Amino acid sequence: MHEPETDPVCGMTIERGTAVSVEYHGVAYRFCDPACAETFRQDPARWVGDGSGAGFVHDHH
Ligand SMILES: [Zn+2]
Repeated sequence: MHEPETDPVCGMTIERGTAVSVEYHGVAYRFCDPACAETFRQDPARWVGDGSGAGFVHDHH
């Protein structure tokens, strides 16, 4: 069983073999293509928060 991986920038499901990964705060995030990875790299906190959890709610249920 594989959990589908999702690109945090565009929300697309990532196909194995095409993913680009970027490490941020010791976590490897995966992206559908280099453009999404570059978007993430320019402002990672926008996509995943800065790790403090303060003042930024990004919670999907
Ligand atoms: Zn993408």
